Amino acid sequence: MKIQRTGAKKMAPKRVLTLWNDDGVNEADTSVLRKKSQEMKAPLDREEKAEIKALVDSFTCRDDASGLAGPQIGVNKRIIIFRNKSGDDRKKKMTAEDYDVLVNPRITQARGDKVTAAEGCLSCPDIQIDVERFPEIKVRALNEKGEKISKRYLDWTARVVQHEIDHLDGKLIVDYEGTLYYPKSKQALIDKLFK
Ligand SMILES: [Zn+2]
Repeated sequence: MKIQRTGAKKMAPKRVLTLWNDDGVNEADTSVLRKKSQEMKAPLDREEKAEIKALVDSFTCRDDASGLAGPQIGVNKRIIIFRNKSGDDRKKKMTAEDYDVLVNPRITQARGDKVTAAEGCLSCPDIQIDVERFPEIKVRALNEKGEKISKRYLDWTARVVQHEIDHLDGKLIVDYEGTLYYPKSKQALIDKLFK
């Protein structure tokens, strides 16, 4: 990605890529979303910092996301961002304390019996799917400054982190076998996509 001199400071939020739209499969977006993302190298360089900033801006400008991963904004790098507290007041303007950024996240421990819950994804519009996730995970990663960190996440936040890490390997909720939920008005589209 080419960086403009003024670009790093104020980068416009990026469009979120989707597997489909109302007309059917979105081929170009799908190829990016399905690609395995690459690790970032510490120390983070200028370009990588700009990519992280683009992800942060694209996430914090919306109120409909629990998390977002690099490939969802067209950046096939191993970076994710997510709300770090569950039950957040969604109307409140997000500050740096409300989210975590993880670079090259790796789950080093997963504990407890998997729990099933319906998940949605900005890249899979209009649907939700039941997905089984671990209720407790430990993660090793770099933070947005490129420093090594180790974190423990529970319950909903642990679920979101597992969902976002899946994105880095090109995996999305449609790859899980759980029950699919969608509005009746989207029946024709769903038939087209899933049959
Ligand atoms: Zn997602």
